Amino acid sequence: MRSQTEVLIVGAGPVGLTIAIDLGRRGIKCTLIEQKDEPAFLPKMERCNARTMEIFRRMGLSEKIRAAGLQADVPMDVYVVLSMTEPPLLRLPYPSVAQAQADNRSTNDGTGALEAYQLISQYTLEPLLKSVAESLPTVTVRYGCEFLSLEQDPAGVTAKVRGRAGDDEIRCAYLVGCDGGSSPVRKQLGIKLRGEGNLLQLRQALYRCDELFDRLPMGNGPGKGRHYHVADDKATFLIMQDSTRHWTLHAVVDSDDEMKTMFEKTVGVPVRYEMLSCNPWRQNLLLADRYGDGRVFLAGDSVHLVIPTGGLGMNTGVGDAVDLSWKLAATLRGWGGPNLLRSYEVERRQIGDRNVGASRYASMGRRKWRSMYQPNIRDNTPEGRRTRDTLARVADEEQRKTNEMIGAEMGYRYVDSPIIMNVPGGPEHLFRDYVPTTWPGARLPHVWLNDGSAMQDRIGDGYTILRLGGSQAEVNGLKDALESFGAPVQSLDVPDQIAREIYGADLLLLRPDMHVVWRGNKAPEDPGVVAATATGH
Ligand SMILES: Cc1cc2nc3c(=O)[nH]c(=O)nc-3n(C[C@H](O)[C@H](O)[C@H](O)COP(=O)(O)OP(=O)(O)OC[C@H]3O[C@@H](n4cnc5c(N)ncnc54)[C@H](O)[C@@H]3O)c2cc1C
Repeated sequence: MRSQTEVLIVGAGPVGLTIAIDLGRRGIKCTLIEQKDEPAFLPKMERCNARTMEIFRRMGLSEKIRAAGLQADVPMDVYVVLSMTEPPLLRLPYPSVAQAQADNRSTNDGTGALEAYQLISQYTLEPLLKSVAESLPTVTVRYGCEFLSLEQDPAGVTAKVRGRAGDDEIRCAYLVGCDGGSSPVRKQLGIKLRGEGNLLQLRQALYRCDELFDRLPMGNGPGKGRHYHVADDKATFLIMQDSTRHWTLHAVVDSDDEMKTMFEKTVGVPVRYEMLSCNPWRQNLLLADRYGDGRVFLAGDSVHLVIPTGGLGMNTGVGDAVDLSWKLAATLRGWGGPNLLRSYEVERRQIGDRNVGASRYASMGRRKWRSMYQPNIRDNTPEGRRTRDTLARVADEEQRKTNEMIGAEMGYRYVDSPIIMNVPGGPEHLFRDYVPTTWPGARLPHVWLNDGSAMQDRIGDGYTILRLGGSQAEVNGLKDALESFGAPVQSLDVPDQIAREIYGADLLLLRPDMHVVWRGNKAPEDPGVVAATATGH
């Protein structure tokens, strides 16, 4: 039997689910297929960064995600330890969600995010997103349905799939492969991943331990936090999951049995626990040569694989998802020109490349402090003390590279995109620092307005012409030009001086994903060119 849809999405990981929801919200009919029968209870990512939470807010999901994730008052501290019962070698304090939100509330210089990060385990996030996707009348969600192959022609794509009732075909205008690191869709297109593969193999085990969190701190051991790096020669690393009852441990060991001992050794005192699963995983730093071919696009881990240091895996994929979805919707609804979909690879591959680099930088930092480990680390001797002090000192510098990536998270901007009014130059791309900017290609910085509302909440799902600081510049020409392509556009006057100061221009043209297309202090000389560029014509 053959079914038909506008967009077929292969893979219901967090990236495929995000695209399905965003397309569904935009009124696009899509089908999401997933080979698994249901979301798996397997730990992977656990932190949505601030930018991802801003994106989820725009989709109406941030409150739901916070309600399902880690409680807002739990510290997000990171420790370097010998075990959970001994004084920590290093504590890096990071704000709880409640604290980060309060900090955001009291900062209004453009450096903050509208949303704080949120710890939510992938196995909690996926079922949540799945239920949202299933609630949208435009989205068909089929678990237990495997993508087998595809063929494309000038009018569309035909995919062969194997469902619960047997093989069938799905015909679509566009197909998006969100099918993870071993992406069958990418392989079928003959697109290669390049970079450093298989850098290190670790085992990851998931434990249920109801008492550990409540008993922290144990003895003189570290307090409550989210990551506990054990200073040993096995890269051991304990992660609290969102329930605070589940924990994962990563270590370079030879067998699953050893993972049991590693948990007991890390905790340091007898606790009741159960090991729920154990799996090997590999560290990779890889980027795809291309992000699609013809009517087929790739997003998420199918095109970039990073080491989870820095948490740039799923978060980068969510960025891909919302860059691609409005462009697909615009093209399908007829107002998007050919450059819209062409710009997807230009914009997102450079971010994938930068984030693979950021992840490499973070993991080198981690490798550096771990290389300070010596077998005498526990010795009560001057040499033992020296080893502990040196490792803690180096970790104080190097471990931060993993946990402080705000520039990579919020500061990304699209360079040389065919749908941005490019200006040569532009601020430096920084991993560690975020400097607010409205340079064309950048995300609109977050600003609180005088009435307590957030500027980002005023930005709709189409184009927005922002007129700031009481400017009376003529913008009807630009609005008319955008409308002449059939594009949805609103013009918004925001007289608040604070927004004018932070944004540094009287006028901004924003696209549906809140990235800046053009800025100026008077109307563009040729609004037709700006409108044509913005809409991909
Ligand atoms: C230990 C660990 C910790 C991590 N921590 C973080 C973190 O804190 N923050 C972060 O941002 N990232 C983190 N990541 C990375 C993150 O988990 C991935 O980047 C994320 O899962 C990628 O999402 P995705 O939707 O692109 O792919 P996936 O999650 O891999 O989903 C792909 C889906 O496609 C399905 N599929 C595959 N083939 C087919 C087929 N033929 N037909 C149908 N369906 C198919 C798969 O079953 C799967 O459900 C971590 C990863 C690991 C391993």
